[in-house]
Amino acid sequence: MPRIAILGGGPTGLGAAYRLRERGVDDFEVFERAGQIGGLATSFQDAKGYTWDVSGHIIFSGYPYFNQFLEKMLGKEGIRRIDRESWIKFEDRYVRYPFQNHLSSLPERAMLECLIGLVESQTIDRDRAFRNFEEWVFAKFGAGVSKHFMIPYNEKVWSTPLSQMGFYWIAERVAVVDWKKALETALLPKIVDWGPNATFGYPATRGTVGLWLAVLPYLGDRVRYRKRAVCVDEDEREIRFSDGSTARYEKLLTTLPLEAFVTRLARAPESVRAASKKLLFNRLFTVGVGLKRPSPSTKNWIYFPNPKTPFYRMTYLSNYSPDIVPGGDTSRYCSLLMETTYSRFRPLPAGDFAKSVVNGLVDEEILQPADLPAIESVYLIHAAHAYPIPSVDRDEALETIQSYLESKEIYSRGRFGSWKYEIGNQDHSLMQGKEVVDRWLDGSAEKVFRS
Ligand SMILES: Cc1cc2nc3c(=O)[nH]c(=O)nc-3n(C[C@H](O)[C@H](O)[C@H](O)COP(=O)(O)OP(=O)(O)OC[C@H]3O[C@@H](n4cnc5c(N)ncnc54)[C@H](O)[C@@H]3O)c2cc1C
Repeated sequence: MPRIAILGGGPTGLGAAYRLRERGVDDFEVFERAGQIGGLATSFQDAKGYTWDVSGHIIFSGYPYFNQFLEKMLGKEGIRRIDRESWIKFEDRYVRYPFQNHLSSLPERAMLECLIGLVESQTIDRDRAFRNFEEWVFAKFGAGVSKHFMIPYNEKVWSTPLSQMGFYWIAERVAVVDWKKALETALLPKIVDWGPNATFGYPATRGTVGLWLAVLPYLGDRVRYRKRAVCVDEDEREIRFSDGSTARYEKLLTTLPLEAFVTRLARAPESVRAASKKLLFNRLFTVGVGLKRPSPSTKNWIYFPNPKTPFYRMTYLSNYSPDIVPGGDTSRYCSLLMETTYSRFRPLPAGDFAKSVVNGLVDEEILQPADLPAIESVYLIHAAHAYPIPSVDRDEALETIQSYLESKEIYSRGRFGSWKYEIGNQDHSLMQGKEVVDRWLDGSAEKVFRS
């Protein structure tokens, strides 16, 4: 087996490294820019003893390999199983997710608009070709659900005009509407659950990174920290790092954001550079707020479509595991995690961002003014790449870039390596790393990356 270099110690790089060891291959190294592993699935501990994830990460998967890996890494005791309780804050009230199946919780006028829109949407030609995500949303959800939830919420989470996004990625990512069920549950209210993550997992200790730290003992001494790749010479097959050192390879797995990776190539043709500029993404600010008080709710997370609220989602993080608050004592401490994306289309608001997030918690009545003195930690995390946008012309650009890279024995995989949101979770990432290794070793097809 030739010498392999892996760029990035997130779930994809670690998944590939683990698979290499599992298949008895030792001739590889993982080069990670940071001083710790995990990438977007890492966690940080602050001085007060709160553990913060980059974003509220939950674990669920339909891949048997991933589920076996999970159990091997953490054991049954090491993973907490949690029933999803996700909500939408709509004006002064909470509506269960999926929104369209819990319309009975809305004020009467909004409920009526949603129901009329759903009925009207049935008159739309079902086989009509939609040009973008925005058109698809209006056609499938009707004007009311679109106006009250789908459009404002998606504008916040993607920070990208919905007219520039495709809708080919939806599959398990969006709860699509069943208008009969929506009508039925509006008139005869009941809780309707949805989706592959109705029950999810979370590491019992160390936060989200707990899963990835558990892989390290299987990798021997193959992870190199603080190795930031600054240039890759695709003909010489050599990586140069910011500390001036270099590494040679015969095969390279990169998990860097594809668009940034292309700028590091020594010889990429103009067509590849131009294609990489078409890839859209957003960035993320996460604000963690640690309080000396028990959790104010049993909910898991809440979506906020209100454009004035500075975050699109809030997670009651300490409800996932007591280990992530000081002393593991959730009778005295709790933690909340708020996420806000921004992009070239939608900049962050000016001013003290953390303060505006805390004010948003009070405005949305998650916290009362009397809770503010109990705040003992405000922790900011920035992710320069958060969501790879499934834009209308993404796949054409990807084809140009990936076919050039593979002609040079460079394989770009993972959330931002493949640039495919629909295969961008931890399980997809691990599987992409595993499957590219299997392809190298015995020519088997990569199912997840090609799906
Ligand atoms: C807002 C948000 C919510 C999410 N929620 C969930 C969830 O609920 N459940 C779930 O399963 N997944 C979730 N994910 C996805 C999860 O974070 C990803 O699946 C996973 O982290 C992707 O792994 P990766 O290895 O492909 O990339 P990354 O995690 O991005 O890792 C890439 C690594 O490359 C390193 N690197 C970058 N540049 C260089 C360089 N020049 N040289 C060397 N190293 C470099 C980085 O430091 C990083 O460690 C979420 C992600 C986000 C952003």
